[in-house]
Amino acid sequence: MVEEVSNKQVIFKGYINGYPKESDMILKTSTIKLKVPEGCSDAVLVKNLYLSCDPYMRSRMTKTDHNYVPIFTPAQPMSGEGVGKVVDSSHPDFRKGDLVAGITEWEEYSLIKSTAFIRKIDEQAGVPLSYHLGILGMPGLTAYVGFYEISSPKEGETVFVSAASGAVGQLVGQFAKLSGCYVVGSAGTKHKVDLLKTKFGFDDAFNYKEEADLDAALKRHFRGGIDIYFDNVGGKMLDAVLPNMNFNGRIATCGMISQYNLTEAEGVTNLFYIMAKQIRMQGFLCYYYRHLYPKLFDLVVPLLKQGNIAYVEDVAQGLETAPAALLGLFSGRNVGKQLVRLASV
Ligand code: NAP
Repeated sequence: MVEEVSNKQVIFKGYINGYPKESDMILKTSTIKLKVPEGCSDAVLVKNLYLSCDPYMRSRMTKTDHNYVPIFTPAQPMSGEGVGKVVDSSHPDFRKGDLVAGITEWEEYSLIKSTAFIRKIDEQAGVPLSYHLGILGMPGLTAYVGFYEISSPKEGETVFVSAASGAVGQLVGQFAKLSGCYVVGSAGTKHKVDLLKTKFGFDDAFNYKEEADLDAALKRHFRGGIDIYFDNVGGKMLDAVLPNMNFNGRIATCGMISQYNLTEAEGVTNLFYIMAKQIRMQGFLCYYYRHLYPKLFDLVVPLLKQGNIAYVEDVAQGLETAPAALLGLFSGRNVGKQLVRLASV
């Protein structure tokens, strides 16, 4: 007799424009059989332990002609990165009790019908499970790729990071310090600015919300100009950065969170400087660099063990808090990597 249990879920209500609301996601309870069904030869059934809230999920809530990730299906559970424990498996590489990270759904138990986007967690690494969604997960890979592969850093260069206290930014700043760069971050509260300077080792930081003139703020912090801009926000900050870039500077276009909820994107007026200063501006998607996970681990796991890298998470408790936790990314409520904890191992 297959055990059947109740399964709380967060359901995506339907496509939206503008700022998301909690009511765009609905809590529902259904049931699930704790066994991979007959005919699914590459599936695992997991108990979800942690879910990750990431800004890209916002773009999955709107149907456009330029979606770069699959959009959510209305009336179906939200999905995203998570860490789970295998309850049943039809794939020989995954066994009951294994811990896995990868794409799952926003519910207590998920039937993951293809193992293509999950990876087994190496418990030997001896790091907290939740780190596989942050410093050792997608945001960690993003920071690694955007800084080392896209930005071509050199010792002594100046680096500016926006949304610097977030999941990606806090790591970029520390990678920049490890490379001998001078690094300044911007963030939206005094607490975050203090964290950047005291915990993450940025040379300096400022609260962009308190700066009436972003150009003046950048000139104050970069008297000799910016060599590398790690752009997490786009919009007005990008426009202000462009004239402050140095000749042959690099801009790693990681994200544009200031634009995700606008019904009409803000214009950027200073693109002229890309030509005049021979700036290389390059976008990237971490998805296409998944082969670099081992390099990220090789770099970060020893740093974690030696206590030479700091990492801050913001962990909400319980599936019912997930919608508010996701929305918090767009108001800056999160301090560090935003997660939702559902259960312990
Ligand atoms: P996060 O920083 O942990 O959270 C988002 C933060 O963005 C908020 O805490 C808030 O911090 C800031 N923010 C929100 N609205 C803003 C606005 N209108 N203007 C300026 N800042 C705003 O998020 P993350 O996971 O590290 O992601 C950072 C960026 O990287 C996002 O743009 C994301 O889409 C992008 N990303 C790209 C890839 C890729 O493959 N290219 C992968 C992962 C993430 P403040 O309090 O400082 O405002």
